[in-house]
Amino acid sequence: MNNILLGGHVSASGGLHKAIENAEALGATCIQFFGASPRQWFAKMPSPDEINTYKEHLKKSHVQAVYLHAAYLANLASPSAESHEKSIKSLSEHLAIVTAIGANGLIFHMGSGGKGTTREEAIKKTISGMKEVLKNVPGTTQLIMENSAGGGQKLGNTAHELGEIFHAVNSPRVKVCFDTAHAFEAGAITAYDAPNIKKTFDEWDRHIGLANIVTIHTNDSKTVCNSNHDRHENLGEGYIGIDGFRALAAEKRLHHAAWILEVPGFDNNGPDLKNMELLRKCFAESSTKK
Ligand SMILES: [Zn+2]
Repeated sequence: MNNILLGGHVSASGGLHKAIENAEALGATCIQFFGASPRQWFAKMPSPDEINTYKEHLKKSHVQAVYLHAAYLANLASPSAESHEKSIKSLSEHLAIVTAIGANGLIFHMGSGGKGTTREEAIKKTISGMKEVLKNVPGTTQLIMENSAGGGQKLGNTAHELGEIFHAVNSPRVKVCFDTAHAFEAGAITAYDAPNIKKTFDEWDRHIGLANIVTIHTNDSKTVCNSNHDRHENLGEGYIGIDGFRALAAEKRLHHAAWILEVPGFDNNGPDLKNMELLRKCFAESSTKK
């Protein structure tokens, strides 16, 4: 089943090298972790020693692609000038960690406008904020927009809107993360079967270009299609179902991406061997079908 990158979100608590140890335990070839606490505004840069130890572990591992996930607090779309500025600072600090450890990119959630502002203003703030983050952290590391489950003023629930932001920021460093649960919860895809997968990704290709989808957050959904309610579930245990992931694995236009589990885990400890095995089987079965 060739070289498709499969892995999950792993813990880096106890030092960045722990993320690699956890990845190896899963047999992961791609990972995501938090470069700094996801619940704080301030992101502490790891020490040179910690980075070196991490790099040594990475070199000896099977991990080929590393992505960091930004803090949850960041909201570039915020109508509050203070919160907008703090979000730029937080994303810049996290992106600087991506650069320092030689990872591929930073995945961040599209924000939300809120009361007293329009969607257009929220989009404008997001665009200018992303430009500033990229300026603050020069280099080639990617700034990756994750699609949202939508609802209220939440941005990024459609390919159209993500495409608008993508083109306006206009940088080769801007990429997209497609979260399977969020897309389903947003109603951006109504079912993961061959015709809907084709239709949906034709649309994402038109607005963004599928080559720019660099990561697939591979999650089943605890809530129904169009619920706008973001709740991840283990593969096969939610409303997408294992057949949905099998059908998605057969979509060759997504095989260049890193497939990253963000599931609760069968023991509630996050992505585990059982989910990894289910994901591998989806690809193995889809490749024998050809
Ligand atoms: Zn996600």
